[in-house]
Amino acid sequence: MGEQLKIACGVFGAISFGEQPIFSYIYWGMRAQNHRGHQSHGFLTYDSGKFNVHRRLDLIPKIKTSAIQEWFGRLPGQLGIANVRYTTSGKCDEKALAVGTQPVIASKNDLKLAVSFNGNVVNTFQLKQEISREFPRFSYECDADLISHKLLIELMKGKDFTSAVKSCMQEIEGAYSVAGITKDGKFFAFKDPNGIRPLCAGHSPDHSIYAFSSETVGLDINGFERDFEVGPGELVMASKDGFQREKLTGHDCKAFCGFEFAYFARPDSRFDDRYVYEIREEFGRNLVRENPEIIKNSDIIISLPETGDDSALGAHEESRLRWERASRRHRYVTERAFILLNKERYSTIDRKVNILGSKVRGKRIIITEDSVVRGDTTKIVIEKLRRMGAEKVHLFVTFPRIVGPCFYGIDMATYGQLIGSKHNPEEIAKIIDANAVCYQSIENFVKATGFKKDQLCLACVTGKYPTPLAQKIADEMKKKFLKGYEEKGRLYETTEAIEQLMTK
Ligand code: SF4
Repeated sequence: MGEQLKIACGVFGAISFGEQPIFSYIYWGMRAQNHRGHQSHGFLTYDSGKFNVHRRLDLIPKIKTSAIQEWFGRLPGQLGIANVRYTTSGKCDEKALAVGTQPVIASKNDLKLAVSFNGNVVNTFQLKQEISREFPRFSYECDADLISHKLLIELMKGKDFTSAVKSCMQEIEGAYSVAGITKDGKFFAFKDPNGIRPLCAGHSPDHSIYAFSSETVGLDINGFERDFEVGPGELVMASKDGFQREKLTGHDCKAFCGFEFAYFARPDSRFDDRYVYEIREEFGRNLVRENPEIIKNSDIIISLPETGDDSALGAHEESRLRWERASRRHRYVTERAFILLNKERYSTIDRKVNILGSKVRGKRIIITEDSVVRGDTTKIVIEKLRRMGAEKVHLFVTFPRIVGPCFYGIDMATYGQLIGSKHNPEEIAKIIDANAVCYQSIENFVKATGFKKDQLCLACVTGKYPTPLAQKIADEMKKKFLKGYEEKGRLYETTEAIEQLMTK
């Protein structure tokens, strides 16, 4: 079920060289990824040099049959990009959310481009200063504004497109997976030099459509085949002849977000051609192998639906303990708890999960969970289980203990928010009233993903950040936190204040 975590965005884009208008493809490609952002959605199509845009708050709506023609009429063309967003940067009142909805357009003189972005920029302060010099009325609403304007500035210097993207990669620190369209209808995608957020490329079976998608589910829903994951520091252009790939950064590093495997991605998505579902099953098996004593002293496994389900199956197979489907979601209470604003969280969690009392009464239970961030979600569920007569409750957590903030698009903004930054597993067990809290080891987590440790970002569990400014900010924030300084605000406010201090 996860906690109150938020992910930045989901991206989809496609170009058709056949007769078909592109809108239905970007609609479905994005709708399959609405789990990556609930606050707003947007579609942008390109037609005869013109950008047509639709941006709204909330989930992507169902389209009534009677309205289909109207949608196609408003969003014509063979090329389009789309986005779903949860803000991890910028302001988050309703007006700001509406303005910060993507895709965004940046233009100056005869230059113009549109981008859909997923990630989080770390050196916002420095970029804002640079952009404001060129665009005195620049209004920062989201990190996509920084990416699009920085790219525009590089193009304004007379650079060709590839060199402009290369400069962005050299000067923008953070996580960014971007799909975009230029004024003359070029369709491109690129990733930051560490390739932190996912973005894959694929095509329709007849090769008439080429697409980019945060997750493979965006391709699957359209019946497309996956070609490859866009590499770190890679620029990819899509044309009639397929994809043209170019690596623009010299160093060969990769830091793909480990948390995607544990929580964010849909289980039916594939990273490097392995289903997230299979990886999560292996997480469950690992937790059983790591905790033989607890297995001996337990009766049943239950999962926190739904991201705990796959690891529960693995744990059940490995331990031979019954996986009791005694926790159920209320159907149609579909909001992911982590997406909602803080004040709504408690009641929503309580409303979302129902427990089948007679199945847990008198039982020694293992709960599988994807992560523990603040600990309050899990605490509420354990309270429910205790009320219903559970004898013991052991928590198996697939993502290792989170000890530090994320600067790359997941809203774990401060040390103070993270129960794991100041408490060990025994203390956490006491706080949330579990008999034990068992985190999967980092080594086994990495092994299960099929990646090498140096190909993953695990900064929030190891404290080692793949980019230098993030490392400095994290170290600075930690020093302050340990001295009792209370971090305030959202990620961008905290980091920007520190970035400002450090660049003075
Ligand atoms: S810090 Fe954690 S959540 Fe953020 S990108 Fe790295 S692994 Fe993912």
